[in-house]
Amino acid sequence: MSVLEVLDPQAEPLAYFNSLHRAFERSLGGQQANRDPLEPLLDVAFENFEHGVAQSAENPYRVACHGGCASCCTIRVVATAPEILLIARMIRAAPKTMEFELKRRIEKAYEATKLLSEAQRMEHGFPCPFIDRDLCVVYSARPLACRGHASYDVQACIDALAGRACETPISSLHLTVRSLVQNAMQSALRDSGRAWATYELNQALHIALSDDDCETAWLKGEDVFASALIADVSREEMAATFDAIKAHCA
Ligand code: SF4
Repeated sequence: MSVLEVLDPQAEPLAYFNSLHRAFERSLGGQQANRDPLEPLLDVAFENFEHGVAQSAENPYRVACHGGCASCCTIRVVATAPEILLIARMIRAAPKTMEFELKRRIEKAYEATKLLSEAQRMEHGFPCPFIDRDLCVVYSARPLACRGHASYDVQACIDALAGRACETPISSLHLTVRSLVQNAMQSALRDSGRAWATYELNQALHIALSDDDCETAWLKGEDVFASALIADVSREEMAATFDAIKAHCA
């Protein structure tokens, strides 16, 4: 595993991105094209996210998020293909009754949310299929988007969930580190010839769990989750930014 010990993501964001990009490239296996890159890749992502947040100058212990609070787990979740495929693996490896139940919940969530905009989903408040008694049942594999959404005020989150107008104080540190880690992973995936966009989680899991060959096809470079694409940001602009950062740090 590659954890960046020295660089502070907030103080040196470009160098941090570039070093992470190289760590992701190594985890993708270089010339060993047949090696399974999924878990090594996400180990780099998740461990560097936690480390990047912990080592920053901003005190992480002010964050109010805790087990048993799932107030924000009604927000649309955006994830990369490796994150989606890891959760699909976890579901397939679960005991049969749990696998069946999670697939049932994902289908229900997919049907309920597939035609809704992000704003409509916020208004509707449909819960994530992985919430069970206010805990996340895929916690160890939860996407970077979930890890990067951290609040300083539980009551503000509860008020927001109840539709009461309020300002939710979200940690900019978590948002920044999440963006840097996710973008560096996307950049390395792009350079490896794999689909590197972000996708809506319910819809993408519906695809991943309907097709046993999904993971193999993605590894070969197919954009298997294209119909679940989140197109909020131009991929051309993102690609140009990734290349500019790499050139700047070369
Ligand atoms: S994956 Fe887990 S942390 Fe993320 S929204 Fe769903 S329940 Fe919440």
